Amino acid sequence: MKQLTLATVLTNRVPNGAQSERKPAHPSYLDKRVTKSQRENRRTRSQRARERLQTKEHLSRLAVGLGEVELADKLQRCHSRLSVLTCGRHIARIIPNFTCEFRLCPDCGRRRSRKLQNKYLPAMRGFMLHNKVTPVHLVLTQTHRKENRKESAKRIRDSFGKLQRRGFWKQYFKGGTWSLEFTKDKNGLHHTHLHIIGFRRKFFDIELLRGEWLTATGDSHVLHLKQIKDIATGLREVVKYVSKPLDIRRFGAEDLKEFLGLKNMRMFGTFGEFRDFCKDFEPSDNDAAAVGDLESFSRDLVEGCACPQCNQPLFDLRMSAKELPQFYEQVESSPPGEVRKSSH
Ligand SMILES: [Zn+2]
Ligand SMILES: [Zn+2]
Repeated sequence: MKQLTLATVLTNRVPNGAQSERKPAHPSYLDKRVTKSQRENRRTRSQRARERLQTKEHLSRLAVGLGEVELADKLQRCHSRLSVLTCGRHIARIIPNFTCEFRLCPDCGRRRSRKLQNKYLPAMRGFMLHNKVTPVHLVLTQTHRKENRKESAKRIRDSFGKLQRRGFWKQYFKGGTWSLEFTKDKNGLHHTHLHIIGFRRKFFDIELLRGEWLTATGDSHVLHLKQIKDIATGLREVVKYVSKPLDIRRFGAEDLKEFLGLKNMRMFGTFGEFRDFCKDFEPSDNDAAAVGDLESFSRDLVEGCACPQCNQPLFDLRMSAKELPQFYEQVESSPPGEVRKSSH
């Protein structure tokens, strides 16, 4: 059987009857998205903390411009003062003064995506133990049309609904999770993708799935599929879009306005037999450790406890959000074995 790679999975075939005003997603576009995502994963924690600050400042400026004073105020207060439990070399826990819970807030998004990972990773592992399935990451795309974000999201979810009702899908997939990703191109057209973790029952020819997706959408066959080697990494990759549904730094006032109108849109869900499995699934005590999420796992840590990574005592460092990137930098640059003096 031929190895599935990006190059073999993505072909340049244009389906018959594709109309010119409906711009098909070009496969190389997905290649670029994959590279971008890999690049993002390589950034340091201090860089990411700095970006979160910039994103929040940008969002709160836009909110002020729209007269959404309350939202701007909440964003500014969210995670503005932090209590950081640290041994000087590791950060065991960060407790914020306030969380705004706004869906585009990068700090609250991180918390939300951690919660999803803690909830679904044990369930996925359990599901894979009970069923003979292989997890795959499937990205479904659709043609770009002149429509708003809500219409674009509804269209791709409707198409996915059609796909799930088809015999082919039922034969090869046993359920999974989906999440929505929104981007916008320079012509202002929405690119909406569905990122799916699918539990594949058995191998199939990618061309068949392409044909099924074309039937479901009526005009798009562009998709990307790769096998997930490590389910924790695969899930993290997919819930990332729940915390960062769009590129906010390129966001204008109109985009924020539109987003505020989408309040109740679901961005993540489960489907098929995995959905039923999750309803009855009770995670065991060992699952938190298995998830490997240090910040959630260390929920019970307080000052004076031993650092889970080096056993040195933890102390509580109070700082503002603006000081956090620099603190990450200090932690990142401290050589192993050396414990920095507390600076309080
Ligand atoms: Zn927030
Ligand atoms: Zn430590």
